[in-house]
Amino acid sequence: MSPLDTTAESPTIAEAKRQVEICNACRYCEGFCAVFPAINRQRIFASGDIQQLAHLCHNCRGCYYSCQYTPPHEFAVNLPRILAETRAEDWDRFAWPSGFGGLFQRQGLAIAGLLVLALAALFLAVQGIRPQGGEGFYAYLSHGAMVAIFLPAFVLPLVAIGVSLRRYWRTVGGGAVQWRHVKAALMDSARLKNLSGGQGQGCNYEKEDRYSDTRRWMHQAVLYGFLLCFASTSSGTLLHYAGYPAPYGFWSLPKLLGIPGGILLTVGGLGLAWLKTQADRDLNAPAYWGGEMAFVLLLTATGLTGLVLYAATGTAAVQPLLALHLGTVLAFFLLMPYSKMIHGFYRVAALIRDAQIKMKDQRPTIPQPPVRAAVSPPAWDADSRG
Ligand code: SF4
Ligand code: SF4
Repeated sequence: MSPLDTTAESPTIAEAKRQVEICNACRYCEGFCAVFPAINRQRIFASGDIQQLAHLCHNCRGCYYSCQYTPPHEFAVNLPRILAETRAEDWDRFAWPSGFGGLFQRQGLAIAGLLVLALAALFLAVQGIRPQGGEGFYAYLSHGAMVAIFLPAFVLPLVAIGVSLRRYWRTVGGGAVQWRHVKAALMDSARLKNLSGGQGQGCNYEKEDRYSDTRRWMHQAVLYGFLLCFASTSSGTLLHYAGYPAPYGFWSLPKLLGIPGGILLTVGGLGLAWLKTQADRDLNAPAYWGGEMAFVLLLTATGLTGLVLYAATGTAAVQPLLALHLGTVLAFFLLMPYSKMIHGFYRVAALIRDAQIKMKDQRPTIPQPPVRAAVSPPAWDADSRG
């Protein structure tokens, strides 16, 4: 299958289809997550339907531990794994430029590590050309240089993500998006509703014998930590253009948003990395484990290097730490379309598509005129012809 061929049915999708059809006959896991109601709405599954189901699944593993058809049963159902493999295949299949997604999934740790070090070395070299009269971090790198580097590094990955989402949307047959679809999807994402398990009991992610909310809380910490850090940087940019350039004090908006954001990102990232080491790899996509771990560590390093840099303010360590932090942030942005970061965009798209389908199903039906009972033709056979 070519990475550009977004419609071909790969062996992974064919196997997922086989398992989904078993689930559709069984229906035991109906209340577990958004995947099963979506399965139960259909009888026949196209490749795009399977891909949509894959991006709805969040690998909680609840269905696996409840299933009577897991290996060694001949049905060999392992839905969390086959949907994870379908998702990871999509991260590569829809990526633009093609091939980068698969490369990162297979060599993520090496790529992320080398890119951070190379970019940090570059920032250190650029700091040799010191700006005149800058204060704080701007004493090492001018505001103009930061904008010139980070603006394209932010916009280009967003363009790549837009292309990937468009490919996904066409594959799953998405229609015109309305605000009510987006609202439903954002509400689910903000609460991480689907990570709470079917009845709010949590996941079986790291403990097969009991439910736990640890993964949900760690994921929430990362999500809100990331958003706070982003808000901190945005507020700093606005203040700069409003005539209040950095450095900012502890009680300034950039610091009040950035410090808790960095702490949440670091704690949540470390928690998720630890959970990944505890969970059974056979229930995820084992071939992509390194790429997922590389993404979690990169995300954690983004928060951690920012906090360490802040703690080192006023010392000689600022120069190398600033280079390391900027290198980490830049690597994170550049790898966004190819690392597991892309899963968040597909997840929201899948939830929007799910809302579209559900709302269409729930739309009140237009009253139809009563159907008149079919009038049977008069019995007319050879004997009655007279
Ligand atoms: S995962 Fe197993 S128990 Fe659950 S619906 Fe599928 S076949 Fe049935
Ligand atoms: S692993 Fe969890 S989210 Fe995925 S299909 Fe099974 S129950 Fe649903």
